[in-house]
Amino acid sequence: GTGTTTETATTITPGTAPGFPPFEMKEGDELVGFDIDLLSAVVAEAEGYQLGEWQEFAFDSLVPSLTSNKIDVIAAAMTITDKREQTIDFTNPYYNADQAILVREDGSFSPSKLSDLSGHKVGSQSGTTGENIAKELIKEGTLKESNYNSYDSYVFAVQDLQNGNIDAVILDVPVAQTFADQRPVEIAFTHETGERYGFGIRNGDDDLQSALNEGLAAVRDSGRYEEIRNKWFGS
Ligand code: GLN
Repeated sequence: GTGTTTETATTITPGTAPGFPPFEMKEGDELVGFDIDLLSAVVAEAEGYQLGEWQEFAFDSLVPSLTSNKIDVIAAAMTITDKREQTIDFTNPYYNADQAILVREDGSFSPSKLSDLSGHKVGSQSGTTGENIAKELIKEGTLKESNYNSYDSYVFAVQDLQNGNIDAVILDVPVAQTFADQRPVEIAFTHETGERYGFGIRNGDDDLQSALNEGLAAVRDSGRYEEIRNKWFGS
């Protein structure tokens, strides 16, 4: 693609879940972030496609919104997991992440491993890989179910952490780092998961998948990926 629009270009509607800085967030009414810039750059290089208007959902509504055709592509720092791959497809990976345990920076609680969360109140965002860790801790008896809070958005989880309603939030490292830069919270420790983010598409959308993968490769080759990364994460 050359970024030009032809009459034959298919418009694809992107969906995301703001509140996950710096991947997707609101600045006033405007949706901005790494995923927003990257998908736009990728589709501009994807032969035969153009990007429609961004739609916003809670994170755990993105996959159902994709499978019910409300959107055609998910750009939401979504980890490629076996479980999700039973329902949807992904492009090639475009970002790597592990999980972080975020606490208040007042030193009131300083865990250094997952088992230290025992007896404390923990939160994460509904439907995430962070929540999977909490559910695992509940299953193995480390965390009481009544000590776990699931939030529609990590923004509310971090707010509750600051307010002292919970003691720790489990979330992706780059986002935990961004909250730590902006608020009185800090990463207590990280938990290696080796997650890779991909853009989500419907099963069987093979033409779109190829076009997005080619777009992704073009954006990496041109240096545009690096520019977008530096814009949102610094160099
Ligand atoms: N990467 C995590 C997941 O896929 C969190 C994504 C998010 O909250 N936007 O579950």
